[in-house]
Amino acid sequence: MQKSSLNTNQPLTDSEQRAIDEKWMTLAMQLAHEAELKGEVPVGAVLVQDDVLIASGFNLSILNHDPTAHAEMECIRQAGQVLENYRMLDTTLYVTLEPCAMCAGAMVHSRIKRVVYGADDLKTGAAGSVINLLQHPTFNHQLEVTSGVLAVECASQLSAFFKRRRAEKKAAKQASIMQTK
Ligand SMILES: [Zn+2]
Repeated sequence: MQKSSLNTNQPLTDSEQRAIDEKWMTLAMQLAHEAELKGEVPVGAVLVQDDVLIASGFNLSILNHDPTAHAEMECIRQAGQVLENYRMLDTTLYVTLEPCAMCAGAMVHSRIKRVVYGADDLKTGAAGSVINLLQHPTFNHQLEVTSGVLAVECASQLSAFFKRRRAEKKAAKQASIMQTK
């Protein structure tokens, strides 16, 4: 049997936990890239239990005409089917961008134990940036929250996408002006 600190009752050291968090966040970033290839805002999410992948998802709102098709919602829906349970006890959800209020609400309902996210979302973040629904004291479930894992990488993936999209829109606008001349 493979020797692993996960198989013992010893708590992980901070650096061991960090390495695990970065490994899964890297996978979430790959899923975000898949979203981007489909023309979606690049956000990706994975759900993990005992260091094993349970489910994954990425943004599909534009393609599916569905404002609820955020990466976390796609991931949670898939996890429900895999676990055949609407409770996701002892799981960790990794997502490249701070969850919004809708996704944070779904995480509370699903009893996910811990959320790890990359970049802060200063406009709609519901894990502390705008509001903290994941640790609301009067809700019946509070999650552990770890922020800032591969934050620079996750944020630059998003900002590069928006920069490119602005440039494409500008180019398209100029092309249409040229056509009308
Ligand atoms: Zn969301």
